[in-house]
Amino acid sequence: QPLLEVRNLKKYFPIRKGILNRTTGYVKAVDGLNFSIYPGETLGLVGESGCGKSTTGRTMLQLLKPTEGEVLYEGRNLVGLPFGELRQIRKDMQMVFQDPFASLDPRFTVGQLVSEPLDIHRVLQRKAKTRRVEELLEVVGLSGHYANRYGHEFSGGQRQRIGIARALALNPKLIVADEPVSALDVSIQSQIINLMQDLQEQFQLTYLFIAHDLSVVKHISTRVGVMYLGRIVELGAKRDLFDAP
Ligand code: ADP
Ligand code: ADP
Repeated sequence: QPLLEVRNLKKYFPIRKGILNRTTGYVKAVDGLNFSIYPGETLGLVGESGCGKSTTGRTMLQLLKPTEGEVLYEGRNLVGLPFGELRQIRKDMQMVFQDPFASLDPRFTVGQLVSEPLDIHRVLQRKAKTRRVEELLEVVGLSGHYANRYGHEFSGGQRQRIGIARALALNPKLIVADEPVSALDVSIQSQIINLMQDLQEQFQLTYLFIAHDLSVVKHISTRVGVMYLGRIVELGAKRDLFDAP
């Protein structure tokens, strides 16, 4: 059984014009996707900028409301679920972004950032939370006194490690990584990818790995979907899509 299955998923953004803000058309960012993600695999999603990869990831996790279609998580349709139920299921699915600090408050310390998901879901008491944050930072290779420092003190690679620690806080099953290494130097890219692969084994994670760069996706994925203008135009095992190795 797939961990997650997407059926005829669509996300259209209205184009509004004029003083009356009338809808004059739609950007068909995601236009009828069908695919499954199986437990423990890494499904790569590639395609040029603007083809709808990000929107796919966000719509799948219900961070954006789908225009049409179904998203089945462990067989259960997430579309239209009441907020309370969705919130519980969403603990299982986390996102890793290109820059983990971009959308977060710069006044937060690293410790606060990593523990925020724990705060939101009120899953641990304060002392246990402090320990959990240290443990998470260690898991991503940041041992030492990181928790009281700020994002801007760190390099891109270290920042991404912090983003990954945050994503792991609630013991998710599925991680949607949206261009997680695109802003990093090539040598740092491979460090982060190796880390993600180690974590996948250690915690039985399933990945949807989004990138415009084929070489990155090829390295980490078991299967690859190629997107073009809001659709998946090819989907298959890596060895079938690309000439080996
Ligand atoms: P990718 O991740 O492949 O670069 P995106 O999913 O970000 O592509 O974008 C797909 C298309 O949807 C683009 O044309 C983009 O401009 C448009 N789009 C994305 N988000 C929005 C939004 N919130 N409002 C309007 N259009 C959007
Ligand atoms: P990425 O593809 O890395 O997510 P984008 O620049 O495509 O980066 O999108 C950044 C944010 O802006 C996203 O939240 C996206 O939904 C939104 N966005 C993208 N394109 C548009 C657009 N044409 N109109 C409004 N919002 C957009």
